Amino acid sequence: MRIIVATVLVSLTFITVSFTLEEGISEEAGIDYAGSTVIHAGTLLAIAGEEPLSEKSIVVKDGKVAAVVDGYVDGNQIQDTELNIIDMSDKFVMAGMMDMHVHLASRGPDPAERALHGITNSHKTLMAGFTTVRDLGAADDTIFKLRDGIENGDLIGPRIFAAGNIIGVGGRANGKECNGPESCRRTTRDMISAGADWIKIYASCSGGRLCSHPDGSPMFFADEVEAITEVAKKYDVKVAAHSHPRDSALQVLEYGVRSIEHGSFINEDAMRTMIRDKVYFVPTVAVMDMIEEGFENPDADPIMEAHNRVFYENNPPTIYEAYKMGVLIATGTDAGVVPHGKNYREVERFVELGIPNSDALKMTTINSADLLEKSEELGTIEAGKIADIIAIDGNPLETIEDVRNVVFVMKDGIVYKD
Ligand SMILES: [Zn+2]
Repeated sequence: MRIIVATVLVSLTFITVSFTLEEGISEEAGIDYAGSTVIHAGTLLAIAGEEPLSEKSIVVKDGKVAAVVDGYVDGNQIQDTELNIIDMSDKFVMAGMMDMHVHLASRGPDPAERALHGITNSHKTLMAGFTTVRDLGAADDTIFKLRDGIENGDLIGPRIFAAGNIIGVGGRANGKECNGPESCRRTTRDMISAGADWIKIYASCSGGRLCSHPDGSPMFFADEVEAITEVAKKYDVKVAAHSHPRDSALQVLEYGVRSIEHGSFINEDAMRTMIRDKVYFVPTVAVMDMIEEGFENPDADPIMEAHNRVFYENNPPTIYEAYKMGVLIATGTDAGVVPHGKNYREVERFVELGIPNSDALKMTTINSADLLEKSEELGTIEAGKIADIIAIDGNPLETIEDVRNVVFVMKDGIVYKD
């Protein structure tokens, strides 16, 4: 009789456990929870562009997402394992945002000052929920040291993909010299051996100068662009091209650049080429904040103001047209020109242009990861991805300004803000 009772009890216990697994961790019952952190996500935008999910548990282990499972997994369900539970059951949880155009360590003439700014700006950026950035231009190699310091855990900041010095035609404020194909080849090689993850080129004049003419001339000769892109290709480094006038974009697009930055006067031909070749557009529309502020300044130089007015009136419709045509777009603020730590402004600006919230969130996660060619590791919350996870008070799918309310930041599985 005793034996029968015991058997029944064991059976019942077995049924109970099976039921719990069914209800609680149905998809991934085989997970080894030892040493993991579990985030209870009230609303989970695992993949921007898709519908958000509710009441999920994100299992994080060894810096990666081990699984996303239904319901709130807790210690009672997992025997013999101490779980570190992070309760975000009343938050909106999504992948860390990314800013594809920043200048973290570019301010001031003094290298020490630039380094200190770089450290502060990196901290601000990460706290704003931006876990990855592409730094497109610094005055020296400081940015590589900053990148490495963050990577090895000495400093706090986002994961950085850095270009270092911008390559231009040389001369005052025109970038590191590229003057004739030989010189361009040498400079590009030098940048890569100094540690550049990306090559950034000045294909046109800078927006800070009088560069608001659609017919403005490209800076490089064709063979110079060819030399740069050839070297970059050889070392598997991508090229980002700063370009305002129409022809500088058309020129560099012939040579396999990965992204057009600003692109103020790109035309339909350029857009079609970008769609065909999967070239990204990083329009840095957050700069309009600075331009708007300038309009308020009674002492502003009238010539500069007229120049800014052209950008201000032309850029928003150009960006929206590119979006409607299907050009790949990623978020990039040009922080350094605009304040660091307000990187969310680009996402907000996209929505102001008429882009739906879900697409704007996709541009700052999935598209940015794709631009970096890191889609296998970054951009979504799925098993196998790096655990870059943020939580927000509110719901940016409904109210885009909620992207400002980042209350939790995890990068590489480590919590930096809670
Ligand atoms: Zn820039």
